[in-house]
Amino acid sequence: MSARLPTYEDVIKASTTLDAAAYRSPVLTSQTIDARLGAQVFFKCENFQRIGAFKFRGGYNAVANLSAAQRKAGVVAFSSGNHAQAIALASKLLGVAATIVMPNDAPAAKKAATVGYGARVVGYDRLTQDREQVAGDLVERQGLTLIPPFDHPDVIAGQGTAVKELLEDVGGLDALFIPLGGGGLLSGSLLAAHAISPDCEVYGVEPEAGDDGRQSLRSGAIVRIAPPTSIADGALTLALGRLTFPIIQQHVRDILAVSDRQLVGAMQFFAERMKMVVEPTGCLGAAALFNELVAVKGKRVGVLLSGGNVDLSAYAAYLQAKV
Ligand SMILES: *Cc1c(COP(=O)(O)O)cnc(C)c1O
Repeated sequence: MSARLPTYEDVIKASTTLDAAAYRSPVLTSQTIDARLGAQVFFKCENFQRIGAFKFRGGYNAVANLSAAQRKAGVVAFSSGNHAQAIALASKLLGVAATIVMPNDAPAAKKAATVGYGARVVGYDRLTQDREQVAGDLVERQGLTLIPPFDHPDVIAGQGTAVKELLEDVGGLDALFIPLGGGGLLSGSLLAAHAISPDCEVYGVEPEAGDDGRQSLRSGAIVRIAPPTSIADGALTLALGRLTFPIIQQHVRDILAVSDRQLVGAMQFFAERMKMVVEPTGCLGAAALFNELVAVKGKRVGVLLSGGNVDLSAYAAYLQAKV
């Protein structure tokens, strides 16, 4: 596949496309954090985005940019998480039929939410079937268009609109912390930050157990890892993408990693002090900042809170955990 790399122009176009569909999510601040770090911190709250995560942006932009024939035939995505909900809702809003390939044992609540957005769910057996192949069959037999979760120019451009809004709302920043899975969010954010606030040092943050991004940046080539275990279930990707990696390589200041314990600490802070639910993956950037993996004293700092979708009983346990 030799898709062209997206640019900041594509982020601008995406923000026009998203204007009537996505929320301009709020930017919140905390005196407690500012005092603790001696910095000015701005939280871009994509946990309040439609479907509860930034993925609505890229998903909607990708479906909106399909040709009339592709829209008529419908789209397919494989995911049990936020990308599935994003494609389901975006397709519903745009009048496109969506099929989501999900493991048969996916949480009932997630299946129900996806069906609730009007999508058809096709199940597969996690142990005996390959989801990419299940989706590939649907592409071949039913002419559906596959929308990948991160390695797609329209997805990357859509994800970049959140940081574009943040920088428009609060002005230039010295540092910015972004959760990192496959790198759609980070690469889109880098395009926006480089164009609007070129001196801003942008950090991608992944779970320690799945630090393929950091390994890739160090080695200069995409490193693929074995399936990692972390509570950051939205960032358990095995490798960066062929489009996301070159953008990250070009513009990122560094890639950092945090532990599950640090994620729980951040979740507890958001619940107790800021009265909001942020999912484990959504806390990656914040956890790197709170644990001062980079010195930020005297700086203006942005943190992207990427989502708020977390199973309630798991969340209750995170809030009670001693960290
Ligand atoms: C998907 C996801 C991420 C990671 O995004 P990538 O574009 O894959 O890097 C981070 N946080 C949340 C909440 C997500 O759903």
